[in-house]
Amino acid sequence: HGIVELRAVTKTYPGQVHALRGVDLTIARGDLLAIVGPSGSGKSTMLHMIGTLDRPTSGTVRVAGYDVATLTDRELSALRSRQLGFVFQHFHLAPGVSALDNVADGLLYSGTGRRARRERAAAALERVGLGHRLRHRPSELSGGEQQRVALARAVAGDPPLLLADEPTGNLDSGAGAGVLSLLADLHASGTTIAIITHDAEIAGWCARQVRLRDGLIVDGHDHDHPSPVE
Ligand code: ADP
Ligand code: ADP
Repeated sequence: HGIVELRAVTKTYPGQVHALRGVDLTIARGDLLAIVGPSGSGKSTMLHMIGTLDRPTSGTVRVAGYDVATLTDRELSALRSRQLGFVFQHFHLAPGVSALDNVADGLLYSGTGRRARRERAAAALERVGLGHRLRHRPSELSGGEQQRVALARAVAGDPPLLLADEPTGNLDSGAGAGVLSLLADLHASGTTIAIITHDAEIAGWCARQVRLRDGLIVDGHDHDHPSPVE
């Protein structure tokens, strides 16, 4: 089994917007997957399905073996907090709060005590090269540093799967390269990663590319990429 399995997934938004029109996708543990395609093709919607941030109109989403439709909201948030980390184009950090607290607050629902949360947060910030910025607020950090705080928050709980929506889209090339190199480290240490990107260079750097058009996978189907035996 893959860590993620989408089967015949459709998503229709109000107004008959068919954002996904029957998507089958298996993400194997250890994959480094680029999700590409034109604007409006359904990339963010598919990432939201994978991340259990929204429910499909029809079809099945399995994450870590759980059929998402069978879980209560409480079970879903437990699944997300154990299995998933998210990074977005806009960093979504709390503005009035230090880097350390931004990362530690991401562990609020992990069942860890306050002190352990702060220790893990500091370790995660060290890991992204921000050990010297623990007390800084987002407004006192560069864009690249803010995205590294967001990345530290995403991985502080050691989730097996990291989902990234245009993680370098708001960064200059130097800062973007720094974030990519951290993603490469995470992948090398076993994290499964799926990245939405418009950047052909980033897509080429990924081991597998899935291309969407008009809500369908048009390239990079599962059968083109036999999963390694688990
Ligand atoms: P992409 O990430 O490839 O740009 P999206 O998944 O964001 O594509 O969007 C796919 C389609 O669904 C687009 O037509 C978009 O306008 C529409 N869409 C996305 N989110 C919503 C929403 N919350 N409500 C209505 N339509 C949406
Ligand atoms: P953009 O659409 O400009 O690329 P982002 O990449 O910042 O914006 O966000 C992508 C999508 O993810 C948006 O629809 C946003 O509402 C959603 N989102 C951002 N942060 C979170 C979060 N922490 N939890 C759930 N959804 C989020």
